[in-house]
Amino acid sequence: MSLTLYNDLTRKKEPFVPLKEGEVSFYSCGPTVYDYFHIGNARPFIVFDVLRRYLEHQGYKVTFVQNFTDIDDKMIHRAHREGITVPELAERFIAEYRKDAGALGIHEPTVAPRATEHIPEIIDTIRKIIDNGHAYVSGGDVYFDVKSWPKYGVLCKQNLDDLEAGARVEPGEVKRDPLDFALWKGEKPGEPAWDSPWGRGRPGWHIECSAMSSKYLGETIDIHSGGVDLLFPHHENEVAQSEAATGKQFVRYWLHNGFLLIDSEKMSKSLGNFLTARAALEKYSPLAIRLFMLSAHYRSPINFAPEGLQQAAAGVTRLRNCRGDLDFAAKNRAGDNSGFDMAALTAGLEKLDADFHTAMDDDFNTAAALGVLFEVVHLINTSLKDHEVLPPEFFEVCRRALDTYDGILGVIGPDEAEEGSPEDAEIEKLIEERAAARKAKNFARSDEIRDQLRDRGIVLEDTPQGTKWKREI
Ligand code: AMP
Ligand code: ZN
Repeated sequence: MSLTLYNDLTRKKEPFVPLKEGEVSFYSCGPTVYDYFHIGNARPFIVFDVLRRYLEHQGYKVTFVQNFTDIDDKMIHRAHREGITVPELAERFIAEYRKDAGALGIHEPTVAPRATEHIPEIIDTIRKIIDNGHAYVSGGDVYFDVKSWPKYGVLCKQNLDDLEAGARVEPGEVKRDPLDFALWKGEKPGEPAWDSPWGRGRPGWHIECSAMSSKYLGETIDIHSGGVDLLFPHHENEVAQSEAATGKQFVRYWLHNGFLLIDSEKMSKSLGNFLTARAALEKYSPLAIRLFMLSAHYRSPINFAPEGLQQAAAGVTRLRNCRGDLDFAAKNRAGDNSGFDMAALTAGLEKLDADFHTAMDDDFNTAAALGVLFEVVHLINTSLKDHEVLPPEFFEVCRRALDTYDGILGVIGPDEAEEGSPEDAEIEKLIEERAAARKAKNFARSDEIRDQLRDRGIVLEDTPQGTKWKREI
């Protein structure tokens, strides 16, 4: 089977066939950098990064663009409140975004363009739309003329009359129709502004994504993604703008993630029910947060609750323990075991690998793919339990399997041996101290260390090859 994706444009699951063989152009709407991002915003950042990794794993050359919205009303208000300039605010929260995204294991996009660095491209796109008769100048503003664009509503599947009922005119807007939206906003006192053919001003929000995606990915792109709240009006407007500018299809596959909920409500800044990613990372490990996010299908809502996170943390521990046991055994229990049925193990792993791909190919079902990863863990654990000595090849193929899945999902994390956390290093030190105490026959101290670690959920196992430790699940 090959990859199928649910396309919001057709409201159907479709086989994914990129425009250029072997290459994928992928645009994902990024953060508005006026504050720390919350754990709801983290959902699209994590899931679409994983989709990108899966496409790369499948051999595609992926150009993944995720923008920074660094000019809009929220940016201007926040900068005023803080008594700093909009660029200073943007600089600060782009750095904070990178810190948190990095901590969450989200890979850097191929390109991370900022709106304010693309004013010429934005002006150029607006000019094309005006030239093609789909936008007009009014006062110092430029508006998209929705009535001139019969395909408006193609993505949100609503007709103009229904949309018209929900539309409103903001104070200061001089437009012909409530549905028309600003491509360019004339300068207001105290706001950042750039020169343009229509006077000084700044771009509207939607136009930046149209301009930047065509600059980096071309006029027609394969995948465009974002949270489902962006479907209307942001993405609908992007389609109208880009297609009115170029006359070509803008996006071939539209993907939207469901909301992350808290107490059954959408987590959002405006409702005030949000937890920043920074605060979540103080409570939960990045691996647990990732596993939690991937444990639901990306289009379904997911409820952010401590139980779910604890369950995810237990899952991460199970994965890491399996890899730790495997590595420990590779050092100490590898040898000749002609009785071990390597062919059966390989066949088992191959079947699970096929299952993993089937899950991911089915509209990127990470929940099912995680289920397969836990079956791989079960297979490894069973083999380790049932056989004292295992052939070196066993360790190689099992480790390779875990590394491959972790390369896509990023839920097992770095090796303790290579990159242990400060806590891991401290545990290792205590274990060394306990070994020294035992050698010196100071059993009171050695028992004390064992008890102390047990209270922290660390269990020790003394083997002829030394002491192993793992976290209790
Ligand atoms: P923003 O910085 O508000 O433009 O949001 C960045 C991304 O987060 C967009 O793709 C939004 O659709 C997405 N988003 C915002 N809130 C949530 C939520 N509660 N659950 C899932 N995605 C969200
Ligand atoms: Zn966008």
